[in-house]
Amino acid sequence: MTPQEVIDKARKIVIKIGSNTLAKNDGTINVDFMESFASECAALISRGKQVIVVSSGAQVAGLSTISGWAHKGDIHYRQALCAIGQVELMDKWRESFGKQNLHAAQLLLTKEDFMDSHRTLNIRNTLFTLVDEGVVPVINENDSVATDEFCIGDNDNLSALTAVLWSADLLILFSDIDGIYTDNPKTNENAVLVETVENINELKNQITINGKSSFGTGGISTKIEAAKKTTASGIPLILANGKKEKALEKLCSGELKATVFTADENALFNAIMGGSK
Ligand code: GLU
Repeated sequence: MTPQEVIDKARKIVIKIGSNTLAKNDGTINVDFMESFASECAALISRGKQVIVVSSGAQVAGLSTISGWAHKGDIHYRQALCAIGQVELMDKWRESFGKQNLHAAQLLLTKEDFMDSHRTLNIRNTLFTLVDEGVVPVINENDSVATDEFCIGDNDNLSALTAVLWSADLLILFSDIDGIYTDNPKTNENAVLVETVENINELKNQITINGKSSFGTGGISTKIEAAKKTTASGIPLILANGKKEKALEKLCSGELKATVFTADENALFNAIMGGSK
């Protein structure tokens, strides 16, 4: 299936924006991108889709605000930086969605929230209420309280957990890469974009996984982890380049190539029956 076909079929869509997508080359927050993205989300919502955004960028926004802290690697400073940046980030999202006559709402979550059944129920109810009322939830990791936040790929996994929790039909990860390549396209001109992944374990043997990106905490491996989580719950995942102009709109119209991880068709059956079909 192409990204366009997967989006057409989906009603409930979680979209993750990585720090690299949100940041300009100078490391400051890209407000033009946010405004354009909000208008593309509004177009999806007007087609009857429901959207939840998982937004990275607290650190990037913090550094844009207090540039003198860039060299402070100490965990308390990093967490304080995220506390500062999160406000700036949400301010920009509120303004961007506001221009589309949409309200934005903030949820800051940690891994522990997904491990507690009362909390997950509350998160689910809040998400359902917000979305039913036409509000766009914007989720990030609660960076200022989660000490293990700064390990690889939190928001890739966070968006996958959110998609499963909300029973989404699709997760879209916007990163600064076009999708999964057979090798690093920057160093190997013969690297080919893998457009469809049906079997993640087989994929791992076919590709060379390189290091992580500069601003975000994720890398290819965390995107694959996220895909494992969602596809096992019957939710397909699209990995696309959010740096491309109007990436969401182009994905919807079939103009942007990406990698689609197809859902495991038997996932629901296996989950209910506790075995394999
Ligand atoms: N939560 C982090 C932030 O907002 C980013 C984590 C990630 O990029 O995966 O800066």
